[in-house]
Amino acid sequence: MTTIIKRKLMDIEAPNRSTGIVNGSSSNVLNWDDVRFGWAYPKYKRMLGNFWTPFEINMGTDVKQFSLLKNEEREAFLKIIGLLALLDSIQTDFAGKVADYLTDSSLNALMIILAQQEVIHNHSYSYVLSSLVAKTEQDRVFDFWRTEPVLHKRNEFVMKGYEEFTNQPNVDSLLTAIVYDVVLEGLFFYSGFAFFYHLARHQKMVGTSTMINYINRDEQIHVDLFVKIYLELLEEYPEMNTLERKRDVERIFKEAAELEIEWAREIIGNKIDGLDVEDVESYIYFYANVRCAQLKSDRPFPTYRKNPLKWIKAYEEVDLGKTDFFEQKSRQYVKINVQDNGFDDL
Ligand code: ZN
Ligand code: ZN
Repeated sequence: MTTIIKRKLMDIEAPNRSTGIVNGSSSNVLNWDDVRFGWAYPKYKRMLGNFWTPFEINMGTDVKQFSLLKNEEREAFLKIIGLLALLDSIQTDFAGKVADYLTDSSLNALMIILAQQEVIHNHSYSYVLSSLVAKTEQDRVFDFWRTEPVLHKRNEFVMKGYEEFTNQPNVDSLLTAIVYDVVLEGLFFYSGFAFFYHLARHQKMVGTSTMINYINRDEQIHVDLFVKIYLELLEEYPEMNTLERKRDVERIFKEAAELEIEWAREIIGNKIDGLDVEDVESYIYFYANVRCAQLKSDRPFPTYRKNPLKWIKAYEEVDLGKTDFFEQKSRQYVKINVQDNGFDDL
């Protein structure tokens, strides 16, 4: 196992441009014109360009609509927010822990922005809930993860992958932790996203869905950043690029998709008018395939090659700016490259 060591705060002998993605030599001085990876600066610009805060979102209409939702819709709404709040809280911290081991100062900078965006995501959940429900209800939602067995199982699954890395940081455990990261940021949000876009499609809770849409956009970029780090690690440690690892990725995503589906059945099931849980399941299989393809592994569900929720694309792809389903007064459309923007077909 190649143990990895934390980046030095300063190294007077080392170059500004790092000599390795981990265990490299680096002064830790950040000069964007002298960094190891050409993609780092464009990504930095894109992340800054996407800056948003919950304060921009007017919750007035959502406040009126919330009490008019069906009980099942309201319960699903709160449970999904509770789940997202947990995942984003963990993610803020995880990003920082990974960052400590990246030798390149520009990658550290990107991870700090990523972590800052997770803080904003978390803020948005508090913002939504404090607009819609009483403080006691908000507290209950933020504690769902402790008591819901289906959530518990899912969370344990990701945490195990993360903790192996934090307990024993080496190239292998970092690669595996990144796969779990892609599960968290690139799959475990997706039945929740589908639910909110379904509401928005029916002109319900559009403020909340707008926020979810911004979060979705950020998460696509986060997945892409972690995928890039993963692929660079394999490039620098080719002996780690084994068939076994590819199979592991496939296996992890198979299990993750089953867990996400179990959750989708619980919150959506056949309780939500007009949203077919089988379509959501196909959507999850499809996204598991997308993520495995990004990580250069085989697709675990080869028959799911197309996005079954065609309508969702318009909601996911805020940046295309073709349609504005959301009532935002100031939306800044930043065209981002197709690779970051989700996939319709594989
Ligand atoms: Zn997030
Ligand atoms: Zn994220």
